[in-house]
Amino acid sequence: MYFIDVILPIPIKQAFTYAVNVHEAHFLKPGHRVAVPFGKSKIYTGIVYRVHQTPPQMYETKEIDQILDEHPLVTQTQLKHWQWIADYYLCSMGEVMRAALPGAFLLESETIIRLQTERPYTEVTLSAQEELILEALENRQQLHLNDVRNLLEKKQVLGVIQALIDKNRVALVETLYEQYIPKMVSYLQLAPEFQEEAALTALLDEMQRAPKQKEVLMQLFMLSARQSGAVKRQDLLSAVSGGTAPLKALIDKGIVLQEKKQTDRKALWEQETAASKGLSEAQQKALEQIRAEFAEKSVCLFHGVTSSGKTEVYVKLIEEMLDAGKQVLYMLPEIALTTQLISRLQYYFGDRVAVYHSRYSVHERVEVWNQVLRQDAKAQLVIGARSTVFLPFQDLGLIIVDEEHEHSFKQYSPAPRYHGRDSAIVLGALTQAKVLLGSATPALESFHNASTGKYGLVSLKERFGKVLLPDTQLVDLRDKNRKKRMRGHFSDTLLEAIKETLSEDKQVILFKNRRGFAPIMECMTCGSAPQCPNCDVSLTFHKAKGQLRCHYCGYATPITKHCGACGSMSLDPKGFGTEQIQNELQELLPEARISRMDQDTTKGKHAHAKLIHAFEQGEIDVLVGTQMLAKGLDFRAVGLVGVMQADTLLNFPDFRAHERSFQLLSQVAGRAGRTKDRGKVLIQAYNPEHMILQQVTTHDFDGMFKDEMEQRRHYGYPPFNRLIRFTFKHRNFETMQNGSRWFAKALEAQFNDGVLGPEIPPVGRIRNEYLSHVLLKVPIHAGIKAYKGKVGQLVRNFEAQKPFARIKLVVDVDPY
Ligand code: ADP
Ligand code: ZN
Ligand code: ZN
Repeated sequence: MYFIDVILPIPIKQAFTYAVNVHEAHFLKPGHRVAVPFGKSKIYTGIVYRVHQTPPQMYETKEIDQILDEHPLVTQTQLKHWQWIADYYLCSMGEVMRAALPGAFLLESETIIRLQTERPYTEVTLSAQEELILEALENRQQLHLNDVRNLLEKKQVLGVIQALIDKNRVALVETLYEQYIPKMVSYLQLAPEFQEEAALTALLDEMQRAPKQKEVLMQLFMLSARQSGAVKRQDLLSAVSGGTAPLKALIDKGIVLQEKKQTDRKALWEQETAASKGLSEAQQKALEQIRAEFAEKSVCLFHGVTSSGKTEVYVKLIEEMLDAGKQVLYMLPEIALTTQLISRLQYYFGDRVAVYHSRYSVHERVEVWNQVLRQDAKAQLVIGARSTVFLPFQDLGLIIVDEEHEHSFKQYSPAPRYHGRDSAIVLGALTQAKVLLGSATPALESFHNASTGKYGLVSLKERFGKVLLPDTQLVDLRDKNRKKRMRGHFSDTLLEAIKETLSEDKQVILFKNRRGFAPIMECMTCGSAPQCPNCDVSLTFHKAKGQLRCHYCGYATPITKHCGACGSMSLDPKGFGTEQIQNELQELLPEARISRMDQDTTKGKHAHAKLIHAFEQGEIDVLVGTQMLAKGLDFRAVGLVGVMQADTLLNFPDFRAHERSFQLLSQVAGRAGRTKDRGKVLIQAYNPEHMILQQVTTHDFDGMFKDEMEQRRHYGYPPFNRLIRFTFKHRNFETMQNGSRWFAKALEAQFNDGVLGPEIPPVGRIRNEYLSHVLLKVPIHAGIKAYKGKVGQLVRNFEAQKPFARIKLVVDVDPY
């Protein structure tokens, strides 16, 4: 008797055992995909974890439906990596699997298919069953997996569907992705029989009575001689006016051949790769130090101030790796915000770059997955956000985690609630790849690990071209208000500086924090503000849409003056957002071209890239924006950065508030004066004496680090302890409260101290569910084992309690 343990993409901890025959047992290896029945009628795609001969005690094993791959799709190393993630973040292997694999690898009973229309396919013979499915799809547009079962009159259908997907004939019905449509370009060519000179002359003689066709033909001949080969239809038509009809005649007669070819975006870069830049002395030194650190350590922190030219240093390291035939992973916090960087890397590495993007369709993700697995040259350098850490690398040499301090590397929901940077470090250890963490404002954890010698540390303190870091000054809003020197939210100092910068033909960036108080409506009579009916939070005010909206659940209602609490007609906007800043400034400076970059203005498909492009091209004078502006953008002509109000950041109730404020303000400031002239930064604040603001002004990372570490040590926060957060959710407040109290007590009994809460978070109800948090602090040096077993057991005990059965419990390791 042979068995396999299979990981299924569901949130249940253990693997499931299925029976296989002797041939299957010899064929199957860990990482192979199999289709298996589950429960009464479900089918799942599972990954083989282990092949063995021990029958399970507790249940009767079923047989697998079928094997889906010739070769394992998941490597042994990946399985180890998944195991680490599941252990560390306290979730199931199945949840990791679901996050790791592109959806097209996970066919299951819920799968719906349609005809593939966006991708070209090559004619290959299809089996009778495949033909049958395609025919049904011609008539019915979509088929559910059960329809396919009925159609083929058999249960095992995942294999045939997979085959059709692989042949580009069938696609999955997905709701949410940016469709990647390969660009098709038409090429023209003289039919082979006329390519001989004699034949061509004869042909031209024959064409005396069709002068226009003759002209088209001559042009085609000339162009193809110049380009030695096929000519783009577009090029020919722009060379001959009125050429469309005669060209069609020539094509119809078979004298000219037309062919559509796919030119994907990658190919466009093919011809355009460039040699990397020579490094400055300081960059060169940093590069050598990084190499030296890597000789001894596997992780190195590269602390380079904004605009020090870290990217060029990465490029050198990548070059070496690619030349040695190794794979490189380049991780970024948010891919949507980094079109600039991607084009820079494509510029150097051309078609060896693959971008892995969760917003592309699953079919494209499958393509990158397969390329990485095969060690294809087309995906030797993979760029992407956190989920790239799940690709099946075979010979990984280097991982770069750029902007490593960014907390968008963390996945909050659903499980696995993993951190991309930390998972990358573990992947590096499993694959013997070097890991380079880069940032101008490193995370405290990373800097701590570097200062204690666990990681290497390389600093680059000067900007490229020896440009000085921006001249940063604080503006006291209390003082300005007292002296009546404010125009709306602009101090006279900031307004003057804006005018001066614009008069020098330079650009301005104004930053308004998204967190902190959002614009709301408040009643001038009774002081109450309209609330979301589903969440305990005030609705925010969106002038452009004429709506009040909830940022937590998406509830929206038209703006009204009518107060729901006291009935008077005196609701008025309070607080301010980017939209209001834009409007105020436009009134003050009617001539200026002002645009806004925030979640509202970047919703459309390429809205974000367009805004960045317009700003780069100097079509915008002032860009008002939120956090998005801080993300590593490289603008050349920004003379001034203004921060509208820094205090809201500092007052955020979170132990990372200071660290994050320092990072965010330094990063925003870093957009100023990146070339030649020194830039200027003005930070408006009610509390300019605040230590963090002083440290931002003097670019004092070390001072901030020292102060913060003292606080963290004192209160037992990371990096001295690891935090685990338990969130309890239920529609009934009492039930939720009882459950969270029970759990906090149970934790205390297990761990003695380090338990905080239960505590109601600032927004205590979301989507009609009441929330509370319990925090557990676990000593960092104790490792995973110290909590994994105990916490896992407590969660199981909790879930087994009848009254708590409907409470949702979310466990989040390293939640902040
Ligand atoms: P960082 O990522 O450290 O903020 P960048 O890599 O974006 O800095 O570099 C800042 C600017 O300096 C970019 O416009 C880049 O093109 C330029 N730069 C950096 N290094 C070089 C170099 N060695 N030669 C020419 N230009 C460089
Ligand atoms: Zn709501
Ligand atoms: Zn009122």
